[in-house]
Amino acid sequence: MEKIKYYKDNGNLSSTKLTQKPDKCPACGNGIDSKIIGAYEAPRSIMREERIFVVFRCPVKDCRAIFSGLYKSHSYGESFYLDKLDIMSFVKPPDFSPIIKKISSKFRKIYYQAKLAESNGLLEICGCGYRRSLEFLIRDYLIFTGEEESEITKLHFSECIKRIDDTNIKTVAQRAAWLGNDATHYYIIWKDYDLTNLKELIELTINWIVSVEMTKKYKKDMQ
Ligand SMILES: [Zn+2]
Repeated sequence: MEKIKYYKDNGNLSSTKLTQKPDKCPACGNGIDSKIIGAYEAPRSIMREERIFVVFRCPVKDCRAIFSGLYKSHSYGESFYLDKLDIMSFVKPPDFSPIIKKISSKFRKIYYQAKLAESNGLLEICGCGYRRSLEFLIRDYLIFTGEEESEITKLHFSECIKRIDDTNIKTVAQRAAWLGNDATHYYIIWKDYDLTNLKELIELTINWIVSVEMTKKYKKDMQ
């Protein structure tokens, strides 16, 4: 049993006990001694049971995730047991090749947010997030390969894709953009394709970029 204090809705502090704390971090999966950083009264359940939200922090150095547990009480607030980890679902940040990170830091950030939206069931909006990540990847890639930034930012996205030298990258990026537009706009053209295809095409775009750039690097380094 862990003694804790929690805030009631009226602002007063109240004491109680938790029968258990989460022993595994939902973000990094490590077995942990969760650190409590706050606890608050939650709305009662349909069965009128008292409930509290307890906010935890993962002590693992590279994780430090914040998550919360919803606790219920059968015994008039004397102790609370963990009902569920009622959290925004955690998703590990995507681990892209160092080349992709070098080309575009913004791509990774936007892609991760789209992934977070998807894992939290926000399926109507995650597609345009993926599309936005693709746009940053492509524009930043062109700048990386020597195109003028001022020019690339002015161009329409589809014009940017046409500027890519490599046929494979161009082919998959173009199709990813088509599906990305469907995920963003009212009128849908590619009715037989969905989010899975969009993600697959973005992944292919990434893979082709990595292959092309790695090949260039070896060619240059080992003459
Ligand atoms: Zn963790």
